[in-house]
Amino acid sequence: MNIQKDSVVRFHYTVSEQGQEPMETSEGRDPLAILVGHGNIIPGLEKAMEGRTAGEKFEVDVSAAEAYGERRDGLTQRVPKKHFEGQRLQPGMQVVLNTNFGPRAVTIQKVGMSVVDVDLNHPMAGKDLHFAIEVIEVREASAEELEHGHVHGAGGHQH
Ligand code: ZN
Repeated sequence: MNIQKDSVVRFHYTVSEQGQEPMETSEGRDPLAILVGHGNIIPGLEKAMEGRTAGEKFEVDVSAAEAYGERRDGLTQRVPKKHFEGQRLQPGMQVVLNTNFGPRAVTIQKVGMSVVDVDLNHPMAGKDLHFAIEVIEVREASAEELEHGHVHGAGGHQH
């Protein structure tokens, strides 16, 4: 079947900043599973998936605006060090911080004695990205998955 709204897609991905070495890949891990049309992944990549089928490989360029958005100034926040649970912190390092809005990837800017300044911009904000995708599986979502807005089982939510 072709990928369309409410399809469940399992896929491997490799992402790089355009013209750069790969930053992240799912190779060697389980494929990622998403529910199409529910904001599970960035809009540019979701759009590029439409109409593809299992086994298909493709590459796509996605502009920052269609990926993680432009970088915003003034998104620095001062966080008590205890929130980092004893991790060894260095400026430029990316960590996942548990916030009131759930886990969030942040970049360490400055490490003080008891507080840490972090940049809340997504690490890939402001970057034009290049994706290499391999579609592993396409299936229809279950009623429960549609209700939750995400995939259950392998590569998705386990609950
Ligand atoms: Zn669920």
